[in-house]
Amino acid sequence: MPSNLISVVIPCYNEEEVIAETFFRLNKVMNSISNEYRNELIFINDGSKDKTLEILRAIQSQNNNVKVVELSRNFGHQIAVSAGIDFSNGDAVILIDADLQDPPEMIIDFIDKWKRGFDVVYAVRKSRKGETWFKKATASLFYKTLKKVVDIDIPLNTGDFRLMDKKVVHVLKQLKEKHRFIRGLVSWVGFKQIGIEYDRAERFAGETKYPLKKMIKFSIDAITSFSFVPLKIAGFLGLSSAAIGFFGIAYSIVLKLLNVTIPGWSSLMIVILFLGGMQLFILGIIGEYIGRIYDETRNRPLYVLNNQQEDEFSATYEYE
Ligand code: UDP
Ligand code: MG
Repeated sequence: MPSNLISVVIPCYNEEEVIAETFFRLNKVMNSISNEYRNELIFINDGSKDKTLEILRAIQSQNNNVKVVELSRNFGHQIAVSAGIDFSNGDAVILIDADLQDPPEMIIDFIDKWKRGFDVVYAVRKSRKGETWFKKATASLFYKTLKKVVDIDIPLNTGDFRLMDKKVVHVLKQLKEKHRFIRGLVSWVGFKQIGIEYDRAERFAGETKYPLKKMIKFSIDAITSFSFVPLKIAGFLGLSSAAIGFFGIAYSIVLKLLNVTIPGWSSLMIVILFLGGMQLFILGIIGEYIGRIYDETRNRPLYVLNNQQEDEFSATYEYE
């Protein structure tokens, strides 16, 4: 038996139409290197409402390299992946989507680079098939904005599809922040990282589990986790309106001294509405950060397992 273990983490939310095929293709890839590496396939059922869990349990009963982590409800993609990472024991851990948009066959290339000494090998999307223009446009805007505002170097057009050495995973397991942007955290960790280009395939079946609402939350989490630029913009807006206000005051005093009375209703309305709007906007930005501080201080666990006690294998993650 080879001693090196590879863990594959697969988050699944309502993926009944694809999950069997995903297992089949992943297992085939892992079998093709089984003389060199043992493997564990860790499926995280993120509170699916369809047959995903039943299918996973059936697969698990016939394959002893398969583990199923069951979350008590839908916690979201990034948390599901974090749970999978917590349960992984591999010398290298691979993150891959369940919908076969990330080709499992690329894992062989990942491992090849890893053997050559890279600690993180991530996949860079050269093209994206079968996605709406809206998804492509918002994704492109998101990555461009992110690049501008974050302090660390997060590679463009990169999802979570990647391989990480166990020393990177060891650090990740210690990062307990609640609003997680995993690819950002992995960049933050450092070590030797490299990207490989690929053409992102279409979803094998089913539809995206990332509606607009989740995409917006994901983007705000990404930016606020790694950047204070929104707060700086808020400060800048405040300062510039104060400067304009200063001139307004000077102007009013001069008019008063010259005894010129003006009917001031329109100008007052404009100033009040403008300042009011600006203040609320700035408060909103500050609120996003305060909400996140509040989330951190409550110190709730990142996720809850469905069968916390009975699980046949234990998480390396420990609640504090
Ligand atoms: N996913 C999840 N929880 C969620 C949403 C998505 O575990 O709340 C999983 C989903 O099953 C898939 C991966 O995250 O394996 C990526 O989701 P999806 O393919 O729907 O996103 P897209 O590729 O459209 O951005
Ligand atoms: Mg997808």
